[in-house]
Amino acid sequence: MVNTEWLEGSGIELDNGVTCDSGLRAIGHPEIFAVGDIARWASASRNVSLRLEHWTNAVDQARVVAHNIVHPDDCEDYDTTEYVWSDQYDWKIQIVGHTGSDHWTMVGDPAQDRFAVVYGESQGQAEGAVIVNWPRALVDARRSVASRAKADELIHRLRALLEPSSTAPAKAAAR
Ligand SMILES: Cc1cc2nc3c(=O)[nH]c(=O)nc-3n(C[C@H](O)[C@H](O)[C@H](O)COP(=O)(O)OP(=O)(O)OC[C@H]3O[C@@H](n4cnc5c(N)ncnc54)[C@H](O)[C@@H]3O)c2cc1C
Repeated sequence: MVNTEWLEGSGIELDNGVTCDSGLRAIGHPEIFAVGDIARWASASRNVSLRLEHWTNAVDQARVVAHNIVHPDDCEDYDTTEYVWSDQYDWKIQIVGHTGSDHWTMVGDPAQDRFAVVYGESQGQAEGAVIVNWPRALVDARRSVASRAKADELIHRLRALLEPSSTAPAKAAAR
């Protein structure tokens, strides 16, 4: 839950966040915008209401809101392929898109401290990925999830990175 108690009674619509349209304008108050953890916006591409708690999301939303304030007659929708990273001890964990479904495939070996988990049914869309200590895989995963490529295609590409001929860097060199 996000902290919106201070907005209660203000007339701004709240629903575990400030309810916004696709351009991050508060519903019913086009002169008020919300950015970051507090913003619940209508995702035009996914047709759902979303609220994200990621640094990248806050920064990306701020850019769109700045544009929409300056260009009220040419407002942009905010759309995103979710991305969050976190450093946990010596692991850099990067998460793209939606994760957590029962359909997932591991690529690489956690014992080697460098691996990826791809989410999505094999013949379906790559919904998301968790990448650990593997920057090169992140590039492919972000591109695949954003372009709605098949999960199988992404898995194949990541496996190819593990082939000796791909000269994939070892963990220490990859950071
Ligand atoms: C413990 C923790 C770990 C996290 N780790 C990660 C991570 O690894 N990666 C990642 O991407 N994200 C992480 N996040 C999430 C990330 O911090 C947030 O998504 C991001 O900070 C959101 O930015 P924001 O500007 O929306 O809100 P905030 O950064 O929370 O800024 C809101 C500001 O408003 C101020 N404020 C609140 N109420 C009032 C008021 N009534 N009047 C005036 N000022 C007020 C607050 O003091 C604060 O300074 C983490 C969050 C937490 C709590």
